[in-house]
Amino acid sequence: MAKVYLTIDTEYSSGLVSDLSAADRRDNFARSIACLTPDGPTGLTHKLALFEEHGIKAVFYVDPMPALVWGVAAIEDVVGPILDAGQDVQLHCHTEWLELAGDSSPLASKRTGRNLYDFPYEEQCEILAYARDTLVAAGAPVPVAFRAGNYGADDDTLHALRTIGVRYGSPLFHAGQSQLRARQSPHTGGKPYRASPVRRLVPVACNHARHHHRRLP
Ligand SMILES: [Zn+2]
Repeated sequence: MAKVYLTIDTEYSSGLVSDLSAADRRDNFARSIACLTPDGPTGLTHKLALFEEHGIKAVFYVDPMPALVWGVAAIEDVVGPILDAGQDVQLHCHTEWLELAGDSSPLASKRTGRNLYDFPYEEQCEILAYARDTLVAAGAPVPVAFRAGNYGADDDTLHALRTIGVRYGSPLFHAGQSQLRARQSPHTGGKPYRASPVRRLVPVACNHARHHHRRLP
């Protein structure tokens, strides 16, 4: 029997940021995490209640990068309800927040980029270590699985994951929307990605568009 993982990318939207104030964070939470609609919430609390009702276990990939601008409490507000509901929190990472963070970026270079593959291996290690440590600071267990924001991973990402101790990766989208990129790196010698440095890769087979907020029955 095929195994299916129910996974939910759970994140504030960097695209909705206006002034980085506390009110801005609350509005972002309402729109991106709680996903409030005229018909009621369609996001985190709704899904958690639904999974509880049907006895379903799911993995919530939580992006800790907004802590760069709003502090760890912003991530605690996301992690807490998931753990309280007995569900699984794992690591997600959107590098767009580095640009919003400015001088608060953990990178000495202050480099910015939309995807992890925009960064060299060493900086991917730094970004992922920051993300992992922040997720744990927000109350999550040490993550063992990861999905890149925008599926923007490359070979170096997989090696960086191994370096920081993450064993399971789900950076691929099966339909080819944005694939793992093969690029020249010290680890691959320019060859396309072949042997997985992480223990298991799980491709994403089905994607329910998050911008179409519909209440699941
Ligand atoms: Zn995402």
